Amino acid sequence: MPTTNDIRAAFLDYFASQGHQIVPSSPLVPRNDPTLLFTNAGMVQFKNVFTGQETRPYNRATTAQKVVRAGGKHNDLDNVGYTARHHTFFEMMGNFSFGDYFKPLAIELAWNLITRDFGLPKDKLLVTVYSEDEDAAALWRKIAGLSDDRIIRIPTSDNFWRMGDVGPCGPCSEIFYDHGPDVPGGPPGSPDEDGDRFVEIWNLVFMQFFEDPPGTRTPLPRPSIDTGMGLERFAAIMQGKRDNYDTDTLRALILASADATGQDPDGQFKSSHRVIADHLRSTAFLIADGVLPAKDGRGYVLRRIMRRAMRHLHMMGTTDPVFYKLLPALIRQMGAAYPELGQAEALIRETMLGEEERFKAMLGRGLGLLGEETDKLPSGGALPGDVAFKLYDTFGFPLDLTQDALRSSGHTVDVDGFDAAMKQQRERARAAWTGSGDTATETVWFEARDRFGASEFLGYSTEVADGEI
Ligand code: ATP
Ligand code: MG
Ligand code: MG
Ligand code: MG
Repeated sequence: MPTTNDIRAAFLDYFASQGHQIVPSSPLVPRNDPTLLFTNAGMVQFKNVFTGQETRPYNRATTAQKVVRAGGKHNDLDNVGYTARHHTFFEMMGNFSFGDYFKPLAIELAWNLITRDFGLPKDKLLVTVYSEDEDAAALWRKIAGLSDDRIIRIPTSDNFWRMGDVGPCGPCSEIFYDHGPDVPGGPPGSPDEDGDRFVEIWNLVFMQFFEDPPGTRTPLPRPSIDTGMGLERFAAIMQGKRDNYDTDTLRALILASADATGQDPDGQFKSSHRVIADHLRSTAFLIADGVLPAKDGRGYVLRRIMRRAMRHLHMMGTTDPVFYKLLPALIRQMGAAYPELGQAEALIRETMLGEEERFKAMLGRGLGLLGEETDKLPSGGALPGDVAFKLYDTFGFPLDLTQDALRSSGHTVDVDGFDAAMKQQRERARAAWTGSGDTATETVWFEARDRFGASEFLGYSTEVADGEI
């Protein structure tokens, strides 16, 4: 049975043997795009190559890219622990053609890799195409021999990719694997497509137009290819599992969590262990790439992820900090492929320990308050916004942590009330500000704060233009 590390290497070797340059993953903090929270797709490091602003000494590339989807347009944070196929941190495998090959070879390379080299049975696979993309449908019939009922036409933006309002764009085609009728969920395009039965494993983007101004598309003289395959989803299939969390890497992290907390990995805290395994990866990789927990921006997204994991650890009865104790297990699994983890081990460890020490004291008291307030709620009721705000302001509970904590009892949070309480507090702060006498500076400061204050919540309310693949 191939390990996740074997599969990553086989993917890169395959594309290298087909003339692709193996390019290292770029950092999780994008260097070339300040509007993007985190690198969320393999194509991000190549954005300027696709637009023609930058050239490279190769026109075919392949990567295993670290990505985080915990904010902006792609936010999978709330899926984690609950679906079999979503993570906040994952590895996106990809092959890229910069004006070199296009649809026919892209489809052929992908199909040969998964059916010939990796041996996936054809009758378990189906594909989607953009409804207007007759070329792609014909190529899937011809190259893969797929019958029409296995080529699903999708008319929505899910199958039409755009870099932004202006820039390269084009139809995409996704390859799905059917885990079988025992798993709930319907085929792509059906009302119950959100289940774990039909899993999207690979997205092929055909960049064939340039859009400018918005709404006006002209064909690109040299169209390009951008693809993204989820390594964990593919590893699950190759390892005979239906759930990403049962693959070698993630299972090892779940066992580390079970060991550190003394709680059965498959018992009542099963989803907590999954959340912890996932959040351990995003935490360690983000810190290794220079993000530190903070009150706003990227650092606040990291803090939210860390505190969520810490709440789950706390719930399992741990009294002393434990999150940092899981780090060696991660380095054992992924340190060879990502040496930055080992290089930053001391920093990651100290940051995890420090954050948990600070949060632990407030966490117990905050959960006490939350318990009392939840007891007063009717079934399915919403926690009042001012309580959620107090938890945020006094006990350091990010809003999504409170929401996650209420999820198991079926309660929600009055988010409008929370926002209102936040706004009120801002106004009080403004009124109480006696100031330095420099009115111009103060005005600028408050305006900036009003405009950018929401950055504390960047990650679940702010839409950022990004390189969605
Ligand atoms: P989904 O519809 O399942 O949320 P997506 O269409 O958002 O996936 P893409 O943006 O097309 O995903 O990314 C390319 C590939 O990355 C997907 O085909 C999938 O295999 C993988 N992938 C996407 N999101 C996640 C995630 N949160 N965790 C693990 N793998 C993912
Ligand atoms: Mg998605
Ligand atoms: Mg999708
Ligand atoms: Mg997709």
